[in-house]
Amino acid sequence: MEGYVPACRHPVAAESAADTSRAPPTSLCKRPSEAPPCDTIPSPMTTQTTPTSPTPRPIRIADNNLWPFPLATGGTLLVDAGWEPDADPAAWPAIEAQLTSLGLALRDIRVVVVTHEHIDHAGLAARWAAVGARIVAAHAAVPALTAGLEGLRAQRLARAAELARHGAPSEVTATLLGARTAQQRWEPCPIEDITPAEDAPTYPLADGRTLRLRLAPGHTPGNLVATIQAPDDAEGLDLCSGDTLLPTTIPTPGLHFPHALAGDTSRWPSLPPFLRSVAALRALPITRILPGHGDVVAAPLRLFAQFEDHHARRGARVRAALEAAGAATAFEVARAVFPRLPHARIAQAMTETIGHLDVLAEAGVARAETTDDLAHVVWHHVSGTA
Ligand SMILES: [Zn+2]
Repeated sequence: MEGYVPACRHPVAAESAADTSRAPPTSLCKRPSEAPPCDTIPSPMTTQTTPTSPTPRPIRIADNNLWPFPLATGGTLLVDAGWEPDADPAAWPAIEAQLTSLGLALRDIRVVVVTHEHIDHAGLAARWAAVGARIVAAHAAVPALTAGLEGLRAQRLARAAELARHGAPSEVTATLLGARTAQQRWEPCPIEDITPAEDAPTYPLADGRTLRLRLAPGHTPGNLVATIQAPDDAEGLDLCSGDTLLPTTIPTPGLHFPHALAGDTSRWPSLPPFLRSVAALRALPITRILPGHGDVVAAPLRLFAQFEDHHARRGARVRAALEAAGAATAFEVARAVFPRLPHARIAQAMTETIGHLDVLAEAGVARAETTDDLAHVVWHHVSGTA
């Protein structure tokens, strides 16, 4: 059965800075056209101060982590709602069984923080609300939560149209449009069950620490993370990173259309705020990362460095390709950066390329020009800039 593959769960081998012609090798993803390229990175090797707080045990559903934190006021806060992979009806009972093994019942979950508006993190929000949990999400994530699967379909249509405007051949967009949602379930979450994270930024925990929600737009417009801080500042911060930082892949930008359901398919540039969000997190004394996928990371600095190095290298290659062309579509730039990439994966390469073109545009190095009929976008290198 074909199922949705969340963005950036698709490791590919790390690129060689010396080889600019090599395409990313075969990925593990079931539907590569829906996800940007991600690089496999080695396990963090550096040692850092080990936090004294015990490492929490996540609830796992597929390869998603749901992180439980007992609240000082009673009940438990859960970071991320989880989902039903391929609409598997066994997912919810599996969550309940894991809660039981932690000595918890469904009704003990009073707050569910959704780190971002992707189905694997938000898909069960309505289910949690139905058993009495308050759903907390960034304001920008709320429309996706209240739309459910309909929102996912609207994003998919807008994404295909945007890639076509950026030069993708019809067979590339046809693959995207052919992606099935029949086996996916994402129930709309009632708006009255959702509290914007901006209105509830901190939660005192039963162990004396404080959980703080921090907006970190980039991976999605409504992306947030949580930091957990001890009262005496003796230890550093735990970071519930969602998909902002992951232990075995480097999260990359996406193509996002925050108002697609209202018929407005303006694209939200993803990578510039993503880079700023990660830079802001790097400035915090984070000593442990509890990611949305994969194992706890006890040496976060290495992850930050790898994220920044990856995007610096990719950005330089995109810039060089655009400079050599003078003017080109994002498809042509992606083809120049990855000349041997299989056609089936060009959509994800274009997605990351557009992200880097957005960064170059912000820096005044590139300029996007839309044709008079609005059908095509051509990127121009702006000469004379540093
Ligand atoms: Zn995810």
